[in-house]
Amino acid sequence: MLEIYNSLTRFKETFKPLHEGHVGMYVCGPTVYGDAHLGHARPAITFDVLYRYLQYLGYKVRYVRNITDVGHLEHDADEGEDKIAKKARLEQLEPMEVVQYYTNRYHRDMAALNVLPPSIEPHASGHIIEQIAFVQKILDRGYAYVANGSVYMDVEKYAKDYPYGKLSGRNLHDIIAETRELDGQSEKKHSYDFALWKKAAPEHIMHWPSPWSEGFPGWHMECSTMGTKYLGEQFDIHGGGLDLIFPHHEAEIAQSCAALGKESVHYWMHNNMITIAGKKMGKSYNNFITLEQFFSGNHPLLSKAFGPMVIRFFILQAHYRSTVDFSSEALEAAEKGLQRLQEAYARLQKIQPSAVSSQPSDLRQRCQEAMDDDLNTPFVIAALFDSVKAINTVWDGKGAISEADLNELREVWKTYAIDILGLRLEETGNGDDSQQKAFHGAIDLLLGIRLQAKQNKDWATSDKIRNELTALGFQIKDTKDGFEWSI
Ligand code: ZN
Repeated sequence: MLEIYNSLTRFKETFKPLHEGHVGMYVCGPTVYGDAHLGHARPAITFDVLYRYLQYLGYKVRYVRNITDVGHLEHDADEGEDKIAKKARLEQLEPMEVVQYYTNRYHRDMAALNVLPPSIEPHASGHIIEQIAFVQKILDRGYAYVANGSVYMDVEKYAKDYPYGKLSGRNLHDIIAETRELDGQSEKKHSYDFALWKKAAPEHIMHWPSPWSEGFPGWHMECSTMGTKYLGEQFDIHGGGLDLIFPHHEAEIAQSCAALGKESVHYWMHNNMITIAGKKMGKSYNNFITLEQFFSGNHPLLSKAFGPMVIRFFILQAHYRSTVDFSSEALEAAEKGLQRLQEAYARLQKIQPSAVSSQPSDLRQRCQEAMDDDLNTPFVIAALFDSVKAINTVWDGKGAISEADLNELREVWKTYAIDILGLRLEETGNGDDSQQKAFHGAIDLLLGIRLQAKQNKDWATSDKIRNELTALGFQIKDTKDGFEWSI
């Protein structure tokens, strides 16, 4: 039996891949029946940083993140109407139109957040044959039963042979206590048995033939099937939000043990939740804000629009195992912090080296230690802020840095801030790259004209440009080499 880790403290010492030099990583992706919100951004960004970091360490990583497009029902994952089928019915669309529409929008939002695409993005509906075969294996090994065309996991039988509940720290007694008895559950032997295959009701529009009925797979089945299909019967890392531990991941462990006689996952990693005033963000709480609303500022809880990099930075300011409490004020603070990093990064590119450095930098070591310590991104950010102070000292002429140290510092910033944390520090707004470049070029041009006017003692032109840019919200600072501006 493999051990289960919820965290990888001292990453390099505790993380041992099953195959040297290679890492297989599976993360539960979205159910595509609505726009992605802040709660989707967190696992995507958390495991994006892990993906980037593993590659930086030299591993060849196969990263699988699925798209759930069938079988995720409205209540307790196992009961009620299929979420995608319901949306399709309400909007009079083909279910796959709903899937494609929201998948495209999910990709758009993830690209804006600078989340790298996974190596493989399998759809549940594209793996029905494999899921049927997986269910059959569980039936063959005696841990499931057929009732009225549906197949259910025989949890009581399974729990006699394997520790059901080990990931969530529950025992069968706890699980019985928290499982609701719903109408129509009578075909199950016990309320806590979960569906591996469901017979489709006549009004259910997404269904496939199987040995048991015309129906569809249970929600948990897709991840067991697609994880082992693409990463092998045993693989390194399985991630997702903390809310997936029970029942989803507990069910995945049970399915793998029941079908294969062993656990598939070596390390489980879970990111904590985002809350609004202490309450979990989610559709059921009616307090969710979509990423598009953040980017446009179009939501009553938001004071203004926040760019994708502000959202990414806000999430990385907390350790992935801590909760993050959202507020507009917290985002505004994150925006200011990100601007300081962007300003320092720009200065770092312009600084001129001296013969010797006035102070040594321990930035690389601090960033490395923080990442090795269970992906401690807030410590990496704290180290970067200390480096901002040092950069500004040199910028203001109160310190010096040698050419070798300057090159090293530029490289550490690029490695940790840009490549691993995935922050786009060259950008300062929401526009695309070409717009940004044109905008920056135009302001630099105006301020260049002002500089020339000043040198020609044409104070009227110089003051006019300065005052009008200031009125538009620009801050202009004269420096010994020319000028500097920010918004
Ligand atoms: Zn999953």
